[in-house]
Amino acid sequence: MTTNPSPALLTVTGLVKTYAGKRSLADQMRGKTAPRLTALDNVSIALNANEVLGIVGESGSGKTTLARCIVRLETPDHGSVFFDDRDVLSSSGIELRHIRRDVQMIYQDPYTSLNPRMRVRDAISEPALVHGLIDPAGKDSLIRELLERVGLPQTAADLRPRALSGGQRQRVAIARALALRPRIIIADEAVSALDVSIQAQILNLFADLIRELGLGMIFISHQLSVIAQLSDRVAILYLGRIVETGPTAQVFAHPRHPYTAALLKAHPSIETEKQRQPALKGEIPSPYAIPRGCRFNTRCAYAESRCFEQDPSAATISPGHQAWCHVLPALEGVG
Ligand code: SF4
Repeated sequence: MTTNPSPALLTVTGLVKTYAGKRSLADQMRGKTAPRLTALDNVSIALNANEVLGIVGESGSGKTTLARCIVRLETPDHGSVFFDDRDVLSSSGIELRHIRRDVQMIYQDPYTSLNPRMRVRDAISEPALVHGLIDPAGKDSLIRELLERVGLPQTAADLRPRALSGGQRQRVAIARALALRPRIIIADEAVSALDVSIQAQILNLFADLIRELGLGMIFISHQLSVIAQLSDRVAILYLGRIVETGPTAQVFAHPRHPYTAALLKAHPSIETEKQRQPALKGEIPSPYAIPRGCRFNTRCAYAESRCFEQDPSAATISPGHQAWCHVLPALEGVG
């Protein structure tokens, strides 16, 4: 039997996900094969209980695909995903159903998980009833407990989503996820659409839930400031690859990959020693045409000839802090 290769709650190893692109009619007639889009290329992460792993990257970096592969909404081409000792990618039937119950997703738009016609009480209790975690007699106490836990008044139970603010709707989506007593929450841009003050409240709620319930959380965002606030460790994703990972405080204070440093430069509120790092230039290349060598070479101010030929391997900066760049030592003088 294949087992979890690490003691972590969740272990993702060597995940690869590609998609077939569309062929033009002319290409079809010429018998050309469809181009392939590489969304994830050899991505590995681990998550422990009581821990928040932040996943950062621009749009198109593969963040959401990673989340969808973990819960098997997408099937990766290669790699493995273990939740405890359960092999997620070879699970099916009741076992996969249990994994999906234990690993809950929270999205940017709460309407993704809320039926606009359903009252809050039903939205919260429905999944627990469907999974047999409560019987109808236990519905009211579950609703009371979860409304209190997510900071909503009891009167919200009888409202429909449209009567709630964006922040309140997100609290309902969180309560609905918690009703299934998950062990992991994957929050995909879950605060990106909210005002800054509401963002802070939801981040505080997440922090309380991690501490009180011992959850593990994967927190996906393009906003470094919210990652800095919530996550213990961070992985920086660029064109489907992790380019730097480590303890968030260390990576943000002393970034070693030019991409991380350039992202941080755009967030002056985050204290980092690399403020003289050149700003990020140009657009992220198409995932249909990933640059040869280091995939960041088209935007990197430090690129040298080997960056266009060789894929950089991991350099360990300190325990748990790694970066994939040929010229890391040259960056030490910046800042
Ligand atoms: Fe830049 Fe080269 Fe490092 Fe890639 S390997 S980030 S191109 S210096």
